[in-house]
Amino acid sequence: MNKNTSCPICKKNTRLDHSNLYRPFCSDRCRLIDLGKWVDEKYGIADTSVVDDEQIYPEIH
Ligand SMILES: [Zn+2]
Repeated sequence: MNKNTSCPICKKNTRLDHSNLYRPFCSDRCRLIDLGKWVDEKYGIADTSVVDDEQIYPEIH
């Protein structure tokens, strides 16, 4: 079984198994680049800070 794929950002050969913490990206850098792309779309600013998925939506009480 070939679990390799190409990184969506830099197209580098990337492992999809558990040894790759950043899958489907090749590295933390590419993961953040992808994250930054949609953060940029949403807020209209270039923010390079790390955003956790669970912190994106405000809590509703
Ligand atoms: Zn990459």
